[in-house]
Amino acid sequence: MDVLTTFIQVKESLMTQNVTLVAVSKTQSLEAIMERYELGQRIFGENRVQELTEKQIKLPKDIRWHQIGHLQTNKVRFIVPFVAMIHSGASLKLLKKISLEASKLDRTIDVLLQAKVAQEEAKSGFSPKELSNQQLLTTIADLPNLNICGLMGMASFTADKSQVLAEFASLRKIFVQLKGRNLFPEFRQLSMGMSGDYELAIQEGSTMVRIGSLIF
Ligand SMILES: *Cc1c(COP(=O)(O)O)cnc(C)c1O
Repeated sequence: MDVLTTFIQVKESLMTQNVTLVAVSKTQSLEAIMERYELGQRIFGENRVQELTEKQIKLPKDIRWHQIGHLQTNKVRFIVPFVAMIHSGASLKLLKKISLEASKLDRTIDVLLQAKVAQEEAKSGFSPKELSNQQLLTTIADLPNLNICGLMGMASFTADKSQVLAEFASLRKIFVQLKGRNLFPEFRQLSMGMSGDYELAIQEGSTMVRIGSLIF
C-alpha cells in the first residue's frame, strides 16, 4: 500500500480513538513533511536539535514541533524559543535547564516526564521509584515556566507482546498515580507507542503516539 494512504488511515483511526498523532519526521525531507502537512498534520516530532531547528526555520510556522528523543542540557536553549512540547523530561538537571531557559524568554513549555520501565539499559528517564518520591516531585512542580503535562515512556524493543503490554501497563499505572497526586494541574498526556507497538500502547491507555517509519 502507498505510504500516504497508510498515513491517512492511521491518522483517521487515531482521530476516532481520540489519540494524538506525533508524526516522527526525523531524517525525513522537507518535501515528505510538507506532503503530510498538506493532509492536515500539524504535530511533528524530531529527536536531534540541529535537524529540528533547521526544519523549523524552513517549514510553516503553525507546525507544532515536539522534541522526542534524548536532549542534552547544552542544547536546550536552541529549541526553547519555539518548541511546543518536550517529551524527554528525563532528569531533574534537564528539567531545571528547560525551566531556566524558558524563564529567560518568558515562555512556559509543555514537558512530559520520561519514565524508564523497559529492561534495556540504553533507555533513559526517571525510575518508577523516583516518580513516587514526593520530595523530588514537589521540586519538579515548583520549577517555574514548566507545564508538566504528562508522562512519556517506551517499551522494550522485543517481539514478546506480553512484555510490551506489561511495560505499557506499568507506565499507565505510574501515570494514574502521578495524576492522582494533583501536583501538576494539567497532567493529561500519556505518550507511549511507536510504529511497531502503538496499537498495544493505545490498548493500555496511551493518549499520544509517536509514529515515524510506518507513515513515512
Ligand atoms: C524514532 C522515534 C520514534 C518513532 O519510531 P518509529 O519506530 O519510526 O515509529 C518514537 N519515539 C522516539 C523517542 C523516537 O526516537
